[in-house]
Amino acid sequence: MRINEILKNKRTLSFEVFPPKKAETETEKLFATIRELKKLRTDFISVTYGAGGSNARNAADIAGFIKAEGIEPLAHLTGGPSTPSEIDAVAKKLRQLGVENVLALRGDRPVEFDGDYCKYFRHATDLQTYLQKYDFTLGGACYPEGHQECASLYDDLENLKKKEECGAKFFISQIFYDNAYYYRLVSEARKIGITSPIIPGIMPITNPKNIARIKSMCGSTIPIELRNMLEMYSGNPSLMREAGINYAVYQIMDLIAKGAPGVHLCIMNHADIALEIYDRLHNFFNELF
Ligand code: FAD
Repeated sequence: MRINEILKNKRTLSFEVFPPKKAETETEKLFATIRELKKLRTDFISVTYGAGGSNARNAADIAGFIKAEGIEPLAHLTGGPSTPSEIDAVAKKLRQLGVENVLALRGDRPVEFDGDYCKYFRHATDLQTYLQKYDFTLGGACYPEGHQECASLYDDLENLKKKEECGAKFFISQIFYDNAYYYRLVSEARKIGITSPIIPGIMPITNPKNIARIKSMCGSTIPIELRNMLEMYSGNPSLMREAGINYAVYQIMDLIAKGAPGVHLCIMNHADIALEIYDRLHNFFNELF
């Protein structure tokens, strides 16, 4: 089913997974995670894609597995250094597997990449235009704190509008830890005529590795209250995990109360985190999703 159609009727609960690096040994573990997520009234599961298309085959196979399990997959696809024929190969494979939804992205240049990174697809909008022939429902990324390369949030929002004009039917936000950034993004986007649903991205910080990942991946601001808690509990893994999950639960409750169209949870392939959040919020999910 098309994600924009699901969003017309209900709030969505969705998760992000990534293709494991050690495909042979860890893929079965990921499949077990996906089966667990199926028990949670999951509307869709997104699968990330290596910036250079490095894991293209594995990512498509995982999206196919999600579809076969009866959950809607959202395949991330990055233009990055790919050639049109490489994009064609992945797009055809995704269509053969029954995948209908694609999150069209530019991707970031990997440090080791040498050469013109975005030769064919300079921006996500170029990839969106190219993908029109495949009849995917397209989504795009958005940035509550502004994209790091953009001079201002407002320039970034003008580019977000271009994504909508190029066919994006929904957006998923970069992760954030201060909901005020998300509310500002939505309110400013509506002022300039962007009408598509903007799904907030949430990633619970459950261990110190998450913090390093946030710094390298997106640089989202960690508010002082959360930083204090993480510092206080960093020596005790189970308390840190508990604090991180509680903070995410608080963020989700606030987002639902203020009308977010869904929540997209980055769980780093850990089903137990999804199950724990679901358990604490199951009345909310039952009533309001
Ligand atoms: P773009 O939309 O091209 O934006 C990049 C910059 O260019 C921004 O500053 C923007 O304002 C500007 N811009 C956009 N369009 C135009 C235009 N038409 N003309 C001029 N300027 C423009 N990366 C991965 O490698 N794999 C993934 O699976 C992945 N998944 C992600 C999922 C989400 C929800 C998010 C938020 C990010 C994800 N990323 C992923 C990271 C993403 O690839 C990077 O943030 C990248 O720097 C920007 O990607 P984009 O699609 O937003 O690019």
